[in-house]
Amino acid sequence: MRVLVTGGAGFIGSHLVDELLARGHEVVVLDDFSQGNEANIAHNLSNPSFRLVRGDVTDASLMESLVRDCELIYHLAAVVGVYYVLQDPLRTIRVNVLGTELVLALAQRYRRRVLVASSSEVYGKSRKSRLKETDNGVFGPPEASRWCYALSKSLDEHMALAYHRLGLEVSVVRYFNAYGPRLDPRGYGSVIARFISQALEGKPITVYGDGSQTRSFTYVADTVQGTILAATLPQALGKIFNIGNGREISILELAELVKEKAASSSPIVFVPYSEAYGPDFEEARKRCPDTSKAERILGFKAEVPLEEGLERTIRWFKERKG
Ligand code: UDP
Repeated sequence: MRVLVTGGAGFIGSHLVDELLARGHEVVVLDDFSQGNEANIAHNLSNPSFRLVRGDVTDASLMESLVRDCELIYHLAAVVGVYYVLQDPLRTIRVNVLGTELVLALAQRYRRRVLVASSSEVYGKSRKSRLKETDNGVFGPPEASRWCYALSKSLDEHMALAYHRLGLEVSVVRYFNAYGPRLDPRGYGSVIARFISQALEGKPITVYGDGSQTRSFTYVADTVQGTILAATLPQALGKIFNIGNGREISILELAELVKEKAASSSPIVFVPYSEAYGPDFEEARKRCPDTSKAERILGFKAEVPLEEGLERTIRWFKERKG
């Protein structure tokens, strides 16, 4: 099958591309390298089944030719991560909403199947302990720019379902904090990348707030498996799935675990949110998926335990540094 992966040079995208190539597909990657990284896909450049297109997901004529020439689209291109969202909220909204609308409209015109990548961020600051796909999103005010990402992804989901009503073959996945090799070591948008870099460099490990906020972290190989199942199984059409690991951990516990796994002597320090993100920042206190829908319909369950995933990720960070 010829598959288009938008954002295929990004962190999750590049792992997805590797898996699709390993399964014998032809893969075309569209990336503008604003967040994607050449090093993530360099090993595929000599593969005849791989093609890289540099470009913008909002470029209508480019996207038309790419969608026309493929059979299946994984739409991952987006502005992602709190750091980038706060840097440029307008670009976040434009890329995430207009890019997705373009992909969906073209897929509808050419009758292609699409997978739309969304995010656990669509639950906003919900305090529910196990987030189900049907739960409410709870968003803060527009003064807290963070929420523009959640709203852009919610709108993407609405568009996907609206196009499905018109006959488009589409499914949506909500990612819960994917991590693994190829995370940007600067840690933009990933606490795990930040903590590992800090631990390996002997710098203080910066826990924001009191560290009691929680997340559930999903090893990227699991994220990729869930994505492919949602994009290809007939029973996934028109549906939204949490793709995450059901283990919830506080950020302070995570800091301690990374410190231990990296055999680091870094101190763990507490940094006020206002210092980290500015005065109007709002935090999502809890974020843990109910994974039963993906288990029931896709037969998907995340398998890699956090300890093992962290060991693999730390090894990659060390090799990269070395
Ligand atoms: N975080 C932290 N220290 C850092 C970076 C992030 O304590 O140096 C916290 C952040 O406040 C949040 C959690 O780690 O509670 C996850 O942050 P990340 O940016 O990885 O993802 P998101 O907030 O989008 O889930």
